[in-house]
Amino acid sequence: MEERTRKELSEIFVEESVRGARCELVALRAEQQGEPETAALFRAMQAAAEVQARRVLLQLRGALPESKEFVRELAGYTGECLRKFLPRLKTAAEDVGDHREAELAGRFRRVAANHASLLKKVAEGRSRGEELFVCTVCGFIAESDIPEHCPVCKAVPKRFAVNA
Ligand SMILES: [Zn+2]
Repeated sequence: MEERTRKELSEIFVEESVRGARCELVALRAEQQGEPETAALFRAMQAAAEVQARRVLLQLRGALPESKEFVRELAGYTGECLRKFLPRLKTAAEDVGDHREAELAGRFRRVAANHASLLKKVAEGRSRGEELFVCTVCGFIAESDIPEHCPVCKAVPKRFAVNA
């Protein structure tokens, strides 16, 4: 595949991924507002966007990293989040008085630290294949057992999804 085509595909992948995530959130709001038909359409659009994003990703498979390489890449990104992006968001939000966003940055930091520790464990070959549970509220990942409350956002056990 030529570089130019790859670049265009990569952009479409990002667009489709973002569109899918937005459709999900708007569907959720439509459900809460008692608009089930609209919610159903957005859910379908979300599923379609995910199908298309995955299709594009498969087309780009030559650019997919090896697992070990991807662990390093994810660890690098998580480190950047911890050291740079999230402190910057927190400072910016505090400076202008956006307290909820500053709090969100703090929460994201704790989740990023949790992810960094899981990635380090895999990178160092210390992972024992424990079952993983993702908090669907904040993204914290628990190993082996679902906690009584999410240590980051205090979500209850039913908010955890099995991912193993
Ligand atoms: Zn949580």
